[in-house]
Amino acid sequence: MKLQKLIAPKLSWHNGSVPKSQHFDDHYYSIENGVQEAGYVFLKHNQLAKRLDQACSFLESSTFRIAETGFGTGLNLLLTLALWFEKTAKQGKNNRVLLHFVSFEMFPLRVADLEKAHQAYPDLAVFSTELRRHYPLLLPGWHDIWLFDKQVRVTLWFGDALAGLAECDATAGSQIDAWFLDGFTPAKNPEMWQPALFQQMARLSHKDTTFATFSAAGDVRRGLQKVGFAVHKTHGWGKKREMCFGQLAHVRPHSLKAPWFARPEPIATGTAIVIGAGLAGASVAYKLAEAGWQVTVLEANNQAAQHASGNLAGTIHPLITADWNLRSQWYLQGFEASLRQLLPWLANKDIQGNLAGLVQLAVTDVGEKRVKEALKRVGLPDCFAYWMAQDQCAFKAGSEVNAAGLYFPQAGWVSPPSIVKRCLMHKGISVQYGQVVDTFERIDNQWQIHTGERAFKADCLIVATGALNNRLNQQLGLPIRPVKGQVSHFSAQQQTSALNCAVMHEGYSVTLDSGLAVSGATFEAPDRSASLSIQSHQTNLDRAKTALPHWINAQANSLQGRVAFRPTTPDHLPIIGPVADPQWMQQAYLSQSHTHAVYRYANQHYQPGLFVSNGHGARGLMSVFLAAESIVADLQGQPLLQPNALYHASHPARFAIKPWRSGQKEVKG
Ligand code: SAM
Repeated sequence: MKLQKLIAPKLSWHNGSVPKSQHFDDHYYSIENGVQEAGYVFLKHNQLAKRLDQACSFLESSTFRIAETGFGTGLNLLLTLALWFEKTAKQGKNNRVLLHFVSFEMFPLRVADLEKAHQAYPDLAVFSTELRRHYPLLLPGWHDIWLFDKQVRVTLWFGDALAGLAECDATAGSQIDAWFLDGFTPAKNPEMWQPALFQQMARLSHKDTTFATFSAAGDVRRGLQKVGFAVHKTHGWGKKREMCFGQLAHVRPHSLKAPWFARPEPIATGTAIVIGAGLAGASVAYKLAEAGWQVTVLEANNQAAQHASGNLAGTIHPLITADWNLRSQWYLQGFEASLRQLLPWLANKDIQGNLAGLVQLAVTDVGEKRVKEALKRVGLPDCFAYWMAQDQCAFKAGSEVNAAGLYFPQAGWVSPPSIVKRCLMHKGISVQYGQVVDTFERIDNQWQIHTGERAFKADCLIVATGALNNRLNQQLGLPIRPVKGQVSHFSAQQQTSALNCAVMHEGYSVTLDSGLAVSGATFEAPDRSASLSIQSHQTNLDRAKTALPHWINAQANSLQGRVAFRPTTPDHLPIIGPVADPQWMQQAYLSQSHTHAVYRYANQHYQPGLFVSNGHGARGLMSVFLAAESIVADLQGQPLLQPNALYHASHPARFAIKPWRSGQKEVKG
């Protein structure tokens, strides 16, 4: 998925309050009364008052989904929020309806410009303040934010609407209920009002989906009709003569671009078993319990977080690449998902850590070049990352450093065991220790799991066993390679002073609140022995001393530390999601020619309710919460939390499908 660098809009202001785009030579909304115009065009002609009323009267949980082309100042969202809260107020705490607003914006406004525009609408201040508080980083691609204690989800795609729409999942349950076609007039913005826009709308709509737009241009009407919408013209708002609105009249089948990564059939909320009480298992157990599942966690050891999640500290920071490749995009989403979860826990002191900044020293020429390229080509916003000279890095770190580097104001370190503990405290979770899973099988629509002496049953099963359960990993077809890593611990006396923040170099160094410091970790792939070695301590010491020359005064043979095995994958992305039925996959795909047009292949078949969260490597803190949210969304038939390309990139079936599809795998009869 190639993303373009974001361009800030060039604005002028009518009466200091209504923005005008210099690029499109048009105002964002009516200079007479933007609120009335938006209310008339988009809310009234999608019959939102009536439909939100109906949606809110459902007793079961459901989602009402609106998509908009052209987010601009977010005024349409603010008005929708005002209406939605008016309707849900009647339900009070019983409200089980989620409002999901998806919007696409190629030239996102800065928060200061949003604020300037929002000042004209003091009645909407409660909504506009919440929006600005959660407004995402100005980085290209997909961002999810949750407003008002998770009652509203807003997905913002920063980039071209046509590219963003193509990345949206059209599975039943993820489709759009109402479209707001904004985005400047077709005469001034013909690139957006393309046939592809209307085709994507049809693909993402169901039989009751409506649309409204201020435009009544012939091409727009014909384009919508051609893909199956019934189009009506009516009076426009104010001086505008006409506008149009309508509903999907002909639903046509649309085949998937990647049927092998089709989403699984949802199953109703019930019981779940999670195997593994590390970060991956605990986070998915927590998210399931939050969603109302009764969860049992089976853990082979007598305590949680005994393997890779047991280190005293781990760093959380985005992954920067010069061309903002798929991995950078994936981990940006993972980073945002982790921050959403962890910041409130940190503020409550439920977990230990410090997410108030991290220095990434450019200790190699290659690293420095990559970062500088990214700053130039991707345009990283300052609140996300900025370059600092060597003396500034030293000031932030609280110790002399040997290189300049990048500073991430929102990054830092956390204690993984404290996160695991916090997750497993949920009252919907029961943890059974000392349970080594021997077998699992699906019998009578349930998963039956046998450990040494006991048997457990549940509607769904999530396997999160990390690097070392080779037997289960093989059974599930997961190409996990354990990579040994040793961290070294430095006492307060062995440090000249505590580090102010986490420092990344060839490894990482962190001083914990207790005064103890952690530095590491080594990469020792072929070695499977779990014992600490002086040689690895020496490697950690050398790296720390090279990056932070006056920080440590210790000998390798006097150090304590810890060894763990990271579960790594061939493409350095985690493995998350539903597990395919291997026999079906062999028969339907792998034994067939790889060259047919995609519509000739059936959608993937999965083992019902069987999921994995594994392969998180050294970046689990930036991936496990996104993984957990994604698994819950799959189980419950909710929309994806990612663009299609990123969901596919970490899908468990990719290791079988990609070589076959590219012709690298022999066809077996
Ligand atoms: N709904 C907005 C509001 O409430 O402020 C007003 C939208 S304004 C009329 C149109 C918006 O569409 C602008 O913010 C513009 O940058 C955006 N836009 C134009 N072409 C686009 C494209 N191809 N993809 C995404 N956004 C686009």
